[in-house]
Amino acid sequence: MKILVINCGSSSLKYQLIDSETENVLAKGLCERIGIEGGSLTHQAAGKEKITLKKEMPEHTTAVQMVIEALTDKEHGVIASLDEIGAVGHRIVHGGEKFAGSVIITKEVVQAIEECCDLAPLHNPANLIGIRSCEEIMPDVPQAAVFDTAFHQTMPEKAYLYGLPYEYYEKYKVRRYGFHGTSHDFVSARAAAMLGKDRNDLRIIVCHLGNGASISAVKYGKSVDTSMGLTPLEGLIMGTRCGDLDPAIVGFIGEKEHLSYQEMSDVMNKKSGVLGMSGISSDFRDLGEAAAAGNERAKMTLEAYAYRAAKYIGAYTAAMGGVDVIAFTAGVGENNCAVRSMIGSYLEFLGTTIDEEKNSLRGEELILSTPESRVCVMVVPTNEELAIARETLRLVCERR
Ligand code: AMP
Repeated sequence: MKILVINCGSSSLKYQLIDSETENVLAKGLCERIGIEGGSLTHQAAGKEKITLKKEMPEHTTAVQMVIEALTDKEHGVIASLDEIGAVGHRIVHGGEKFAGSVIITKEVVQAIEECCDLAPLHNPANLIGIRSCEEIMPDVPQAAVFDTAFHQTMPEKAYLYGLPYEYYEKYKVRRYGFHGTSHDFVSARAAAMLGKDRNDLRIIVCHLGNGASISAVKYGKSVDTSMGLTPLEGLIMGTRCGDLDPAIVGFIGEKEHLSYQEMSDVMNKKSGVLGMSGISSDFRDLGEAAAAGNERAKMTLEAYAYRAAKYIGAYTAAMGGVDVIAFTAGVGENNCAVRSMIGSYLEFLGTTIDEEKNSLRGEELILSTPESRVCVMVVPTNEELAIARETLRLVCERR
């Protein structure tokens, strides 16, 4: 079956068409500036050159229409008609406490996703628009919702409750939800498979280090804790997000700088993290170059980044009563040997030894630790789109 995987943002739409039998990506692309002047679609079919089409996309339905046109285009397309798309899988950011797994989209599911908009006001409304646009254009094609939060719904209360009056949890569901769940699930399962072991027998720490970053503790197959919280702002220092802060800082800086809460939120989400700390870039390649050239702030930023990540690994080792596997994934985790090495240097107390020769490789499945290492340290490239396609296929087959 050919499955269209959609990741719909407020002004963008990413897609991949995946053949579920071979798990190959047949085509992928990105619509940008939806609803803003200067819209464009970048599309690439496997084995063909990338094309960019400039066209205004006043709303998402036009973008979905353009995607279908690109996929069925005689020259650049990969399918003859819409009928070849067997199902659509949507990445949905927030499922609140309502979704502990993926589901086939029904009216009730749409309503429940709507009810979670409060928790992800930037993401869920955009995800819903993606669903509605696909329903309009492909009314007979089954659609599935795969949630970023679902995998972490197994966290115990002690991990998800904040030290706030309990009434805020009861009234507003203020708690830790965690994100990147599809990736943490995929990577922990793949890490166990690479070792020829059952995930249910392992305590795994997954370090998803991308532009957004989170760490999770996956104990015997279940997420028991994760670093992102009510929103994806908590936890690690990220590309542009600050991660953990003393909450009093928000009011303190806001008052000094005369910033509203919304403006402070902008600072914390878009101007902080390694970008804000270094004053150079949110991209670790730029930071690495600057540090190598002797830039002290870049060095300090990378050190703070690695230190924070190592602290979470220590905390989750305690939370699980030990750790068997530490898996690095996403842009930085898969590719940045220097950051992995810096984090690894804190883990010797666990009896972890990293083979620096293996650590110099990147972007592929690797075991970085030496055979004597008490903890297995690995690189496991994530593939959220494939995970969404697999979930979609599973749900569609179950329904038959
Ligand atoms: P992601 O959000 O998973 O796409 O990760 C994006 C981040 O990965 C970028 O901001 C880069 O800092 C980092 N990254 C990607 N490729 C490399 C690379 N070859 N070397 C170092 N960092 C990389």
